[in-house]
Amino acid sequence: MIFLNDNSRNKLKKIKLFVLDIDGTFSLSGKPLPGAKEFISTIKNQNKHFVFLTNNSNKSLEEYVFEFKKHNIDVSKKQIFTAGIETAEYIYQKFGRRKIYIVGTNAIKEIFSKYGHEVVENEEPDIVVISFDKSLTYEKLAKASVYVSKGKLFVLTNPDLNCPSKDGPIPDTGSIASVIEKASDKKPNIVFGKPDPLILEMIIKKFNVKKEETCVIGDRLYTDILLGIRAEVTTILVLTGEAKGEDIKNSNIKPDIIAKDLGEIAKFI
Ligand SMILES: [Mg+2]
Repeated sequence: MIFLNDNSRNKLKKIKLFVLDIDGTFSLSGKPLPGAKEFISTIKNQNKHFVFLTNNSNKSLEEYVFEFKKHNIDVSKKQIFTAGIETAEYIYQKFGRRKIYIVGTNAIKEIFSKYGHEVVENEEPDIVVISFDKSLTYEKLAKASVYVSKGKLFVLTNPDLNCPSKDGPIPDTGSIASVIEKASDKKPNIVFGKPDPLILEMIIKKFNVKKEETCVIGDRLYTDILLGIRAEVTTILVLTGEAKGEDIKNSNIKPDIIAKDLGEIAKFI
């Protein structure tokens, strides 16, 4: 474990809520990474809390709970936050019930309806939301481009350009939205998800903890760690996913702590 500043050891002692990334931090393709289970049991034994925060809005909470359960990890739906769900909640808090055109899967459309929005297909919306959509069609891109060009609020659930898959990178929300950006010559009004601090501020409020009692753990510097820095909480980079030693040297985004994996963090909390 590397503590990058004198204060980071003390900062870690104060943490009550750990906000964990999933892919590359906790698990890889659904399989828990080394030390992940040990980390969870340490947190539980010490009466501290953990939640998962992911930009991936392609999976439902039920699917995540099921996936964790397969590996004997007990997590409730209240402990999982996805950029898609938080976008639905945020839009409702800020703008109330709106007509929304969604470039996304049926699962994300259901989430928006559940949060009180009117999801429209063939009538003019107030807001256009783009998310990770494995059922993407030309028709969806065309409709979204027309609405955005007319000045409808243009919202992305997350900025990620690609999503890792076993065959290589596949287009995520940011890439899908770039087609609409080019066609309509408009920039998005709101880009939700990590590294925008809004999503973390919502979680901090729900758990009623202070910033100095919150820690973000992740494997990407420009999403997970940047989110923590922007929200002014403690940050830990794990080396089980994307970021490698070379990236840390070359980046000006610096975590408070670098850990080999979650198991190593368990020894220090
Ligand atoms: Mg990750």
